Amino acid sequence: MKPATIKTQESSGGVIFRNADKDIEITLVAVKGGKVWCLPKGIIEKGETPLDTAVREVREETGLTGRAIKKIGNISYWYFIKEDNAKCRKTVHFYLLEYISGNTDDHNWEVDNAEWFPMEEALLKITYKGERDIILKAREMLSQQ
Ligand code: ATP
Repeated sequence: MKPATIKTQESSGGVIFRNADKDIEITLVAVKGGKVWCLPKGIIEKGETPLDTAVREVREETGLTGRAIKKIGNISYWYFIKEDNAKCRKTVHFYLLEYISGNTDDHNWEVDNAEWFPMEEALLKITYKGERDIILKAREMLSQQ
């Protein structure tokens, strides 16, 4: 068998937040039949800035419109694309977005669910460590506002 080729992918997404009674809440999406909870994100399309993509993907995957406050940071990871026999190095940009409008019931078909969680609960729920670190960074940024 031929050795795997190397690909790269660049996505962008967001931590969208709102002030609830006593907590700050953020929205996570469930994928893979609801087993994996993650931040909304998607591939940067041609002609888009990473910020455009973050706002668009958050709107599509969560049903929520947000206003960008600040860049939080990037994460990267490797995964294997079986059909292409390729190893893919993926970079994902994340932005802090303030909730403006919309309802999580209007999430699209790409995700199994979209839900608001108090920040502390989201930190327990989130599947990937890289995304947990992004939420921790967002919490830190919000506490300094
Ligand atoms: P996108 O949402 O950018 O369109 P996608 O849904 O096609 O992407 P990914 O979410 O990047 O694909 O998932 C591809 C593979 O990488 C899956 O096997 C997934 O479990 C894994 N993966 C996704 N996010 C992370 C992460 N933060 N850390 C490690 N592995 C991850």
